[in-house]
Amino acid sequence: MKKAIYPGSFDPITNGHLNIIERALDIFDSVTVLISINPHKTPLFSLEESLEMITEATQHWPQVTVDYNEGLTVDYARRNGISTAVRGLRAVTDFEHEFSMALTNRSLWPDFDTVFLMTRVDYMYLSSSVVRQVAQLGGDVSQFVPSTIERRLKAKFV
Ligand code: ADP
Repeated sequence: MKKAIYPGSFDPITNGHLNIIERALDIFDSVTVLISINPHKTPLFSLEESLEMITEATQHWPQVTVDYNEGLTVDYARRNGISTAVRGLRAVTDFEHEFSMALTNRSLWPDFDTVFLMTRVDYMYLSSSVVRQVAQLGGDVSQFVPSTIERRLKAKFV
C-alpha cells in the first residue's frame, strides 16, 4: 500500500490543491491532507474550519483522509508510517523553498522523500493568499475554489 501525505497551510484549500490531490491519487493508494499548524501565523480559517472544509471538498475520494500536525512534518510521517510527501510546484519561485524543505526533511529522516507534481497550467497563478485577497475585496472566487469554500469565504467578509 503506497501512502503519501500532502502537507500545507490550505488556508483555504483551492482548486489547485485539489488538482494535486486528484493526481497524487493516480500514484498513491491513499493521501493524507495534512494541515501544518504554523504558530507564527494567524490563519483566516480556524483549524476546525479547515478540517471541515477539506473533508467536505475531498469527500468524493474515499482514499483521502484529513489531519493536522503542529510539529515537524517528518515526525508526523514517521509516527504514521508514511515516508513520502507530495508537494505542488507552480513556478521557479516555488522551487528554491521546496528544494531546501525537501532536503531538510530528508536529513531529518533519511527514508523520507518528496514527490513534486507540476501545477496544471490554469492553476499556475492560483494560491490561497490570492483567493483570500480577492474574496476580501468582494471579487468572484468561484473559478478558484469549490462552492462550499466560496460560501465560507463570503461569510468571513460580510
Ligand atoms: P505552504 O504554506 O506549506 O506552502 P500551501 O497551502 O500554500 O502551504 O501549499 C501547499 C502545497 O500546495 C505547496 O507545495 C504548494 O506549492 C502547492 N500548491 C498551492 N497552490 C497550488 C496550485 N495552484 N497548483 C499546484 N500546487 C499548488
